[in-house]
Amino acid sequence: MSKVTESFGTMVFNETVMREKLPREMYKKMQATLKKGKRLDIETANVIANAMKDWAIERGATHFTHWFQPMTGVTAEKHDSFIEPAADGRIIMEFTGKELVSGESDASSFPSGGLRATFEARGYTAWDPTSFAFIKDNTLYIPTAFCSFGGEALDGKTPLLRSMEALNRETLRILRLFGNEDVTAVKATVGAEQEYFLIDADTFEHRPDLIYTGRTLFGAKAPKGQELDDHYFGIIKPRVKEFMAELDEELWKVGVLAKTEHNEGAPCQHELAPIFATTNIATDHNQLTMELMQRIARKHGMVCLLHEKPFKWVAGSGKHNNWSLSTDSGANLLEPGDTPFENAQFLLFLTAVIKAVDDYQELLRISVASAGNDHRLGAAEAPPAVVSMFLGDEITAVLEAIENESTASAKDKEMMKIGVHVLPKFPKASSDRNRTSPFAFTGNKFEFRMLGASASIADANIVLNTAVAEVLGKFADELEGAIDFSSALHDLIRRTVIEHKRILFNGNGYDDSWIEEAEKRGLSNLRTTPDALAHYLDEKNIALFTGNKVFSESELRARYEVYLERYAKVLNIEARTMVGMVRTAILPAVSKYIRQLSESAIAAKSFIADSDLSFEEETVASLTELSSKTYAFIKMLESANDAAKALSCSKEKAEAYRDSVLPIMEELRGAVDSMEKLVPADIWPYPTYGNILFGVK
Ligand code: ADP
Ligand code: MG
Repeated sequence: MSKVTESFGTMVFNETVMREKLPREMYKKMQATLKKGKRLDIETANVIANAMKDWAIERGATHFTHWFQPMTGVTAEKHDSFIEPAADGRIIMEFTGKELVSGESDASSFPSGGLRATFEARGYTAWDPTSFAFIKDNTLYIPTAFCSFGGEALDGKTPLLRSMEALNRETLRILRLFGNEDVTAVKATVGAEQEYFLIDADTFEHRPDLIYTGRTLFGAKAPKGQELDDHYFGIIKPRVKEFMAELDEELWKVGVLAKTEHNEGAPCQHELAPIFATTNIATDHNQLTMELMQRIARKHGMVCLLHEKPFKWVAGSGKHNNWSLSTDSGANLLEPGDTPFENAQFLLFLTAVIKAVDDYQELLRISVASAGNDHRLGAAEAPPAVVSMFLGDEITAVLEAIENESTASAKDKEMMKIGVHVLPKFPKASSDRNRTSPFAFTGNKFEFRMLGASASIADANIVLNTAVAEVLGKFADELEGAIDFSSALHDLIRRTVIEHKRILFNGNGYDDSWIEEAEKRGLSNLRTTPDALAHYLDEKNIALFTGNKVFSESELRARYEVYLERYAKVLNIEARTMVGMVRTAILPAVSKYIRQLSESAIAAKSFIADSDLSFEEETVASLTELSSKTYAFIKMLESANDAAKALSCSKEKAEAYRDSVLPIMEELRGAVDSMEKLVPADIWPYPTYGNILFGVK
């Protein structure tokens, strides 16, 4: 065995370990839980907990933690040691089934959107046995869901698991219609490609904006950006290579299938792609990946930036959510098949996704909305804020033929009928990938490309799973009652294509003309987070989530509040950071330089003609004008921020931040960046874009 195969998963309490460590009977019960979602009895939980503890202690663990994903987008944990006092004043190491299965936690400091009444601060965490426990930092991590005492979801995982259940239920109904009795479980699979920046820790420490907000709020354009395309897939610098090697190794130990590492488009931007896994595991693994990236970067004297847009002038970072449906017999339901029968089924799943994306385009947009991602979507570097789907020429041609029921020859025409016995063999999807599409079919999976780099992938997958489950449910209702399955199927697919083809677009999504065209087609163009959130509680969205038991209405209302609040809070921090940097460092530095220049201007006076302006005089004039503008902007920013903050309605507050705070921030930045270009580097108080972007040697 290679070193890698040996170390992979060594810190994971996975099926192999379970088979080895658990009594046969208990292992079987655990299998039933893993594969079929059966509940575990407390006896089994006790045995598993004990085996887990022994295994963990052998690997140096002293503590355990229920690891959860509150509505902050990042993970949370509280560590307890295994120690229990023993009679003789010594200690023993203990871990019970009860401690494994559920934990109690003070929920009062996590966002709840009003779900948690103040008199009931308790929340509890519940083990998700389908995502394996693992060891990190001498601690046994137990992936859990996080709920209020009344059972309302306070996290990303609870609704994600519920959406997986809905999808499983409705997909099985469809498979039964196609005569498939063998499959007993269907899960959505996800591979999340993660983009990030790596910068030198020293430049980071000198930038309060990066420290407080994760992005640069100021910075004049460096002479060089990414225009030479010399970074994308370029040679990886030794220091970065060492970071990537350690990252891979640590990820492998905890069972994350890190697969591909390469440089991305912008200077010091990189990407990691894992091999796909079941949705909830992929979500846990993406959180682990982001956390380990940040930690390991520090060990190498660098800082990993996961913000969606850390730098103006170069591309930001996103996340590609590759999504498909997989059966427990190992079939990918979005893979065009070899037989007409398989292809009819494939087409039904394909059109279900088309309808789901069209019907719930606002929710998909909302699932990727954040203050950070607003700087990316639609900025000709990431997909636009309009959701559309790319299918490629081959599949598009098939759908067109179905729609028109008209093909070249009579024979072909007969072939295009979606009888389950006559459908032609599909051409394999070619590799012409459209990189500008928000939602692209890439051969046997869909790639949702609007996610921001720092987001939890839970939100996007909750929407995708639920929307597709909803449509499959409707399809099943219709087909289950059909007298002639073949023709009902044909009619359903054809009708769905006709009704939803407006969402299909194979062209360049970065093109302005597409935005016009999309608006003509009636597609939503929700440019900002508050624009998008305005649709969160639309009647059809509430119906979708409550009908599929993914969210109750009160859970949705709570989340709506949390998202609006988060947007306002992020902008408040950014505004305050800008004011602080300008008042305490930028204006004082400029003022100092103006004084220096003024002194030299007097000295220079005797050497130049009276009518000519010296370098010093001209620069002083420009800087004086810019600095008084800047000063005026920070005063405006302070009062706009105060006014926005004082609003009590969270919708109005978020809108005030967008409409009156953000524009002043932009203007302020413009003035400051112009001054930066006139001030020597040793006087300018902060590292420049050149220093930061090209600082990793
Ligand atoms: P790229 O988009 O960079 O060309 P690939 O097509 O190789 O890369 O795959 C991108 C991601 O898609 C990887 O994370 C991969 O694991 C994932 N992926 C591949 N097949 C599936 C699937 N059936 N379900 C979910 N994700 C998948
Ligand atoms: Mg990709």
